[in-house]
Amino acid sequence: MDFIDLKTQYRRIHDSVNARIQKVLDHGQYILGGETVELESELASYVGAKHCIAASSGTDTLLMALMAYGIGPGDEVITSPFTFIATGEMIALAGAKPVFVDIDERTYNIDPALIERAITPRTKALMPVSLYGQCADFDAINEVASRHGIPVIEDGAQSFGALYKGKRSCALSEVGSTSFFPSKPLGAYGDGGALFTDDDDLAKTMREIRVHGQDRRYHHPRLGINGRLDTLQAAVLLAKMEVFEDEVQARSRIGQRYSDLIREAFSETEDRQGRVVVPYLAPECTSVYAQYTIQVRDRARIEAGLKARGIPTAVHYPVPLHFQPVFAALGQGPGSFPISEAVAERVLSLPMHPYLTEEQQIRVVKALEEAVEG
Ligand SMILES: *Cc1c(COP(=O)(O)O)cnc(C)c1O
Repeated sequence: MDFIDLKTQYRRIHDSVNARIQKVLDHGQYILGGETVELESELASYVGAKHCIAASSGTDTLLMALMAYGIGPGDEVITSPFTFIATGEMIALAGAKPVFVDIDERTYNIDPALIERAITPRTKALMPVSLYGQCADFDAINEVASRHGIPVIEDGAQSFGALYKGKRSCALSEVGSTSFFPSKPLGAYGDGGALFTDDDDLAKTMREIRVHGQDRRYHHPRLGINGRLDTLQAAVLLAKMEVFEDEVQARSRIGQRYSDLIREAFSETEDRQGRVVVPYLAPECTSVYAQYTIQVRDRARIEAGLKARGIPTAVHYPVPLHFQPVFAALGQGPGSFPISEAVAERVLSLPMHPYLTEEQQIRVVKALEEAVEG
């Protein structure tokens, strides 16, 4: 069994992917070719944002958004410590200080009730993460941010396609950022990412930053990076968009089915209850389950038990950002963010992709039962 199976998807979209790649090989516009423009317009309309800026990765997009706001040394940006390294890393790379705020124990996303006390006169942005495929609580986050006049940049690298109160991830705040890393819900065949905004000026600035801060050929009013998306990756993504909404539905169904199967398996006896925690889905949200992540006690033993039964697993993420050596200078020891620290010890991601069959899921849950029983 694969943790993420990209081959079944390729068999489904084979003709379309190959034809679109061939077209790029024929026209030869490998950088910012027609497919990139077509993709941007398709993604903007899918998300419900005015502008889409296709880019080189979901890491570069975070940096580009921060640069567009002129965020740098002396500034602070609030984010979650329970995320992939890139979120905090790009804040620091921009020269600003990442200010961590603990998460909600049910959704794993930043706890909006804790944001206000972390805001200082130096706070220049909030960067909430929509972890595992479910959006953070953007109404509450935007409310605090607008009261303080600070922008909100969504790190939607794991939530592309998810809905929050009927609106898509990446259209829930001033700027949305996502990733097209191959294993993300919408994955390219290499690196890629995109930024979304309704703001014309900000979109123009982010487009300039994408090509070395250039506003016209060889004229550079600002610093930028090489943040472009390859035309070949845009071609792949256009082919994948033909089946994406169908896959979003499948992900939601498969995630729910996991939860049903696990609840069933672990509710039989008093003794088994609470030994496995399934993901909590907020009523105003759908999830694309970029990861289907449970909590278990004694994780090392259960990981080994699953592995012995042929079930691959992963841990997203074993070390909260404030414990990473690179952020040691922030001086935040144990107890700084108790919920992030506790769940980092217990989370375990199971195989998840839109082509997982019910039979495979039953096998995973059976193996999980056996592993837990030891
Ligand atoms: C994957 C990911 C990123 C980085 O995306 P890349 O395209 O791999 O650079 C950033 N933030 C989160 C939360 C991610 O999961």
